[in-house]
Formats: sequence, structure tokens, C-alpha cells
Amino acid sequence: MFESLSEKLSGILDALTRRGALTEEDVNAALREVRRALLEADVALDVVRSFIDKVRARAVGAEVIKSVTPGQMVVKIVHDQLVEMLGAEAAPISLDAVPPVAILMVGLQGSGKTTTTAKIAKRLTDRMKRKVLMASLDTRRPAAMEQLAVLGRQVHVDTLPIVPGQSAVQIARRAMEAARLGGYDVVMLDTAGRVTVDEALMLEAAEVKAATEPHEVLLVADSLTGQDAVNTAKAFDARVGLTGIVLTRMDGDGRGGAALSMRAVTGKPIKLAGTGEKVDALEDFHPARVANRILG
Ligand code: GDP
Repeated sequence: MFESLSEKLSGILDALTRRGALTEEDVNAALREVRRALLEADVALDVVRSFIDKVRARAVGAEVIKSVTPGQMVVKIVHDQLVEMLGAEAAPISLDAVPPVAILMVGLQGSGKTTTTAKIAKRLTDRMKRKVLMASLDTRRPAAMEQLAVLGRQVHVDTLPIVPGQSAVQIARRAMEAARLGGYDVVMLDTAGRVTVDEALMLEAAEVKAATEPHEVLLVADSLTGQDAVNTAKAFDARVGLTGIVLTRMDGDGRGGAALSMRAVTGKPIKLAGTGEKVDALEDFHPARVANRILG
């Protein structure tokens, strides 16, 4: 995770700490390198600009330059701004509502949405001892419905029986009713994915949202797609309204552009990170820990 970005930033900052005394020009030169590293990592330009401005405002001044360990102070400032850029605090999934609590999963096809739905269901079942029901609303792809049923059996979470011919909204309503009658705490609704963001996809997700009043609306986005993931999040938030993001394939993301831009661009927290294909490969997203990982 973030290997290439981490390597570059550590190199730049290590050189700074080794120098002992620093001039303002040293700090500015290092910040130019940090800027380049962030842009190469595919972080959004506006986010990079604002980050560098904030770091410079704190790092280029007598207080830092004249301190005993100026390099270390600059590293601390970069670290703190990274944490802020990543969202400052962890944002766990909230179940703080009258059960059955609906969680709506949205996203593009192939982003890892169905796998992530099962991962979250497993986590809520195993760690939080909740009774979870999953339902696939992908009426156009019977294979997607079957995939969720297979995953359900694998993680020991119930899935709503498939009834052919129902619309997504009808399935969602049936899921909520089944959850009420069956005493479930949480209903996870896996909406249909499309290859691109399109009107039909947005409309259907918005209708399901109106019908089920979910407590969480989570966008599943592939971190490897960088700024496309951020743009997808913006589009879904504008049309459906999101409460958070799950970034998948973080295990293969050496650059980190999506993770570092997502919060600043969309205003929505990254709640969880997918870190592999296995059903346990899901981590809470802690901005401070992620910043530590990036700075090595
Ligand atoms: P969907 O079309 O959005 O529902 O995507 P799927 O859930 O079917 O996932 C597509 C592929 O991505 C599957 O092979 C998953 O195992 C894989 N996948 C999902 N999340 C992750 C992740 O966090 N890391 C890795 N390496 N693979 C993942």
C-alpha cells in the first residue's frame, strides 16, 4: 500500500532531517519535491496546492528554521497535514438507528461492491454480533445475485431468497420486510453496478434510497482508478447522497492518489479499505495510521 509514494516522500524528508540547520530555501526546495511526488501519485491538483500552501505557511518561518531540529519539525508538519487531508478522524460505520438498519451499497461494476458487501456483513456479524441480511438488487445480472448468495454461504450470513421478475425497489422493500419479521439488525442492499456512471444507475439507486431510508449509503470505489474513483464519488454523491466511501484494492495501490484526494474533494470520509480478495481483507481507515504508513 502506497509503496511508491512512501518511498519518494521518505527520501525527501530524510534528506531534510539529515541536514541539521535549514534555510527557507531548503524548505521550499523540499516542498517542491513533495509537490511533484504527490502529483505523480495522482493526487488531485487542487488538493496538492492546498496541502503545500498549508505546510509552507507553518514550515517556512523563524520558529521552525531556528529550532534545534528544523527537519523533524517539517516532517511533523507534513505528517499533520497528511492526516488532515485523509480526513483527520476515523469514521466507522454507524448502526445508530432503529433496526433493521439499512446499508445501501453503490458503485460501478467491478469496483468490488459485492465482495465488499459480504466483507462488511461478515464483520458486523463476527465482531459486532449483529444479525445481518444481505440482498442483491442487481435485477439485470442473475450471476451477481448468485454471487452474493455464494458469498453469503461462505461468510455465514443470510441472503434474501431470489424472486425473479421483481424490480430493485420491490426487492429492497421485501428485504426490509423480511428483516423486520425475522428480527434482523442490519440489511445490506447491494445495488446493481454499471460499467460507467449512467442516468439509469443513479435513478435506480436514488429510488431504492427513498424506499428504504438507509442509515449509511456507501460508495465502493477502486483505488487503482485514482482520480476516476474520486469523480465517481462526486457523481454518486450529487445524485444519490453518500455517507462514506469504501476504497478497494488498496493492497495493490502503490500511489495513493484516490485515498489522498477523496476526502478533500468530496467531503465524504473513507470509512473502510479493501485490502485483498479474501472475505477478511477489510480494514478500518485510520487517517493517522495511514499517514504513518505513507511517511514510513
Ligand atoms: P462488483 O462487480 O463491484 O460487485 O465486484 P466484485 O465484488 O465481483 O469484485 C471484483 C473482483 O475484485 C473480484 O475478483 C474480487 O475478489 C476483487 N476484489 C474486491 N475487493 C478487492 C480488494 O480490496 N483487493 C483485491 N486485491 N481484490 C479485490
